[in-house]
Amino acid sequence: MIQVNGYAAKQAKTPLTPYSFERREPRAHDIVIDIKYSGICHSDIHQVNNEWGTSTFPMVPGHEIVGFVSQIGSEVTRFKVGDRAAVGNFVDSCRKCNSCRNGLEQYCLEGATWTYNGFERENGKTTPTQGGYCDKIVVDENYLFNIPENLPLHGAAPLLCAGITVYSPLIHWKAGPGKKVGIIGLGGLGNMGVKLGHALGAEITVLSHSLKKQEEAKRMGADNFYDTSDTTTFKKLKGYFDLLINTVSVDIDLNRHFKLLAPDGVMVIVGLPEKPLSLGAFSLVSFRRSLAGSAIGGIRETQEMLDFCSKHNITSDTELIPIQKVNEAYERVLKSDVRYRFVIDMESLK
Ligand code: NAP
Ligand code: ZN
Repeated sequence: MIQVNGYAAKQAKTPLTPYSFERREPRAHDIVIDIKYSGICHSDIHQVNNEWGTSTFPMVPGHEIVGFVSQIGSEVTRFKVGDRAAVGNFVDSCRKCNSCRNGLEQYCLEGATWTYNGFERENGKTTPTQGGYCDKIVVDENYLFNIPENLPLHGAAPLLCAGITVYSPLIHWKAGPGKKVGIIGLGGLGNMGVKLGHALGAEITVLSHSLKKQEEAKRMGADNFYDTSDTTTFKKLKGYFDLLINTVSVDIDLNRHFKLLAPDGVMVIVGLPEKPLSLGAFSLVSFRRSLAGSAIGGIRETQEMLDFCSKHNITSDTELIPIQKVNEAYERVLKSDVRYRFVIDMESLK
């Protein structure tokens, strides 16, 4: 077995503390990655706090993982020792269902194997998976990504979740020239939404719950910025957007935001608040608007997004922290005080 050192939540709603555990020896198609950086996604915080009711402990969070290949299994063909490699939200799936066959492994009908807070597909699903807040991970080569050489590794880590989670709906709902796209919430996902949407050629408006991030949003490529705590915003932008991507991690007034959609406009929910959403039928029926949801992206689309980022030189704004500051970082994410993704430097584990 491979010895691993990291940080874990031992039970719900408790601070993360040092934790050592074992991972499997590489099988024929496995790769061992020495982790350099791991991003902190708000989903990590929801799960450590068991807000979705699905958490198991001890939990090593982290699904924005980048590093270098340190060992390969006997039949590996896609990577060699020393290569950059990255892991996102899932490390396996059934590989047989329609979703898997169509490159939509995140929607695997048997359920994808989540990078952490999941179970390995072998052993009668009793071995829990553990994520990236640690020094090593072992993953099948078919569930790994290449990080293009021109992207700095720490800035690329958040692409593995925040990046793909907004790229996929931007592509699916055809964001591009002539499309008015609103990004609700300028956090980890939001900063990627602005940069990717802008690079795709859409007109990008940020809807933030204060004016504090206005200058930074413009620097990222936003065309417009509005404060949703100002009621005049909802009058000025009534019926304006073709596409709204809601990245907010808490419950917001959806009915009010829905009125910002043009006829046939679509609101895509990517934020996953603890509480159920509430939407009146009139909001949907009026102007034939739609409500949709989207989860991360499949293997092929994630690599496509990384290559798109390479071409347009896009990475996340990051604040690098040692792992000893992870609990402080969680507090700051909860206060919307993150510019715009905390990334853990794994050197700090040594
Ligand atoms: P984040 O960095 O905390 O960003 C969330 C943003 O929401 C904040 O920066 C803030 O932006 C806004 N917000 C926070 N509290 C608010 C409030 N009380 N009222 C109005 N706006 C508020 O989180 P993230 O990592 O981007 O993740 C966002 C959500 O997406 C989380 O729920 C996460 O679990 C979910 N997620 C889903 C997927 C998926 O596949 N669908 C993937 C990753 C994450 P402003 O300050 O600009 O208002
Ligand atoms: Zn995430």
